[in-house]
Amino acid sequence: MTDENSLMIRKIALSFAMHAEADPIAGRLGLSEPRILREGLPARIRTGRCGHIDIMLCAQGIDPVHGVDRIGTESAALTAWVLAEEHEPDLLINAGTCGGFECRGGAVGKTYLAGGHFLYHDHLIPIPGFKELGEGRIPVTPYGAIEELLAIESGPVSSGVSLTTNDHERAFFEREEVVAKDMEATAIASVARDLALPFMALKTVTDLVDHPEPSQDAFQRNLASSTEQLTDHLERLLRFLAEGRTLGELSR
Ligand code: SAH
Repeated sequence: MTDENSLMIRKIALSFAMHAEADPIAGRLGLSEPRILREGLPARIRTGRCGHIDIMLCAQGIDPVHGVDRIGTESAALTAWVLAEEHEPDLLINAGTCGGFECRGGAVGKTYLAGGHFLYHDHLIPIPGFKELGEGRIPVTPYGAIEELLAIESGPVSSGVSLTTNDHERAFFEREEVVAKDMEATAIASVARDLALPFMALKTVTDLVDHPEPSQDAFQRNLASSTEQLTDHLERLLRFLAEGRTLGELSR
């Protein structure tokens, strides 16, 4: 039997929600121009190499009706499934921005590696079994070597379909000690679990959920600078993986 932890990582898929989050790292790595991932999906893929590693970078694309990035869980899951099925990466990384929590040490520009569990804060189904399905609670594979390399913290990431936050969600974030609120990670984690695909999520804070300023205002002001932070971490991570690493080496 082959132990997947002893296999060298050779193909990495990167999934982003927005072009503004994806384009800087694509530029630094000199990836190809964007191409259609699959007919019928707005998602776009850019490919190239980093050292000996094949990189497939995917953004969820521009919604043809509304002309904005097709963010959110539905598109994230669909795009991740097609990306994984078509390109068979050894590792899938979801990178993007998130809402952070000042009460747990969060700050604009701070980057987290997903840890603990991937959660959904707004999939409320009060029926036994379905309640648990709704909350996601997908175990995160710990990647201690990455935390150490990037000198970043890890903690639970929770996904939902809104940028705004309500009181129920605030209570949920406290209970679960969530450090990053986004709109994609848990949906992608669920696809990765179904496909038995190694997965990690890297999230940089653009706005603070427990701050009086509306998330959308902070998000728009900080998107470019936080993405710069995210890009620095990603580049460091990819260049480290390109030296030739096994999954086992990362998950200590
Ligand atoms: N395109 C819009 C807003 C993007 S929504 C604009 O330009 O104003 C936010 C995107 O960033 C999502 O893909 C989500 O994953 C992430 N994000 C950042 N802060 C967030 C927060 N507070 N809550 C949920 N998602 C957040």
